[in-house]
Amino acid sequence: MSEPVLALEGVEKVYNRGKPGEVSVLRGASLAIAPGEVVALVAPSGAGKSTLLHISGLLDTPDAGRVRIAGEDMTRAADRARTAVRRERVGFVYQFHHLLPEFTALENVVLPQLANGVDLASARARAEALLGSVGVADRAAHRPAALSGGEQQRVAFCRALANGPALLLADEPTGNLDPDTSDTVFAALMALVRETGLSALIATHNLALAARMDRVLRLDGGVITNA
Ligand code: ADP
Repeated sequence: MSEPVLALEGVEKVYNRGKPGEVSVLRGASLAIAPGEVVALVAPSGAGKSTLLHISGLLDTPDAGRVRIAGEDMTRAADRARTAVRRERVGFVYQFHHLLPEFTALENVVLPQLANGVDLASARARAEALLGSVGVADRAAHRPAALSGGEQQRVAFCRALANGPALLLADEPTGNLDPDTSDTVFAALMALVRETGLSALIATHNLALAARMDRVLRLDGGVITNA
């Protein structure tokens, strides 16, 4: 088998260690995601899925265990190396879009590319193509406030994929949308993920959506099990 795009090995995380509010969130969580694989992460609220996604995306560090991105052990890498890998290889999508309100949809997808050293013409072309592939090309000149919730999330997907990551981490990406919109927006995300061949770990409460992914993992009691 080729190298997993993401591997967690025995990841542990405790908040407020030794203090009254001590909470042991991850107790040896392990998973591996193969290239092109789309995996659902199902967990009860408070089970630690945001913590797990943050550790996977190098936004947080585990107390024990390892995090490998494309085979590279990033657990104890220097901040600069972690930031570079995060910027170049990982895309994030949250429940709320977090688009920059003063910029248009197109600009929101262009900006991360400029920050990554891409020239403006190429960044615009890529942004237009991405927005077109999720069906919001005609909304490119609108600011986020002028978009519907579903359109905002589609633009957020494009922003997450702007720099061509190998791994998409999504935390309830359609959790804010009504069921019908959630369905079509999720389908747009899946099409985009399949088209780009990227790997994804997508946290969701929605079991019907989870069932449409390649595999379902459950996080409960601080460990990962196959659902
Ligand atoms: P989920 O995303 O599954 O709802 P989280 O990863 O956000 O779960 O949180 C898991 C547990 O850890 C919760 O009990 C939460 O209150 C606690 N927690 C999360 N972040 C922190 C933090 N920075 N400090 C202390 N406790 C935290």
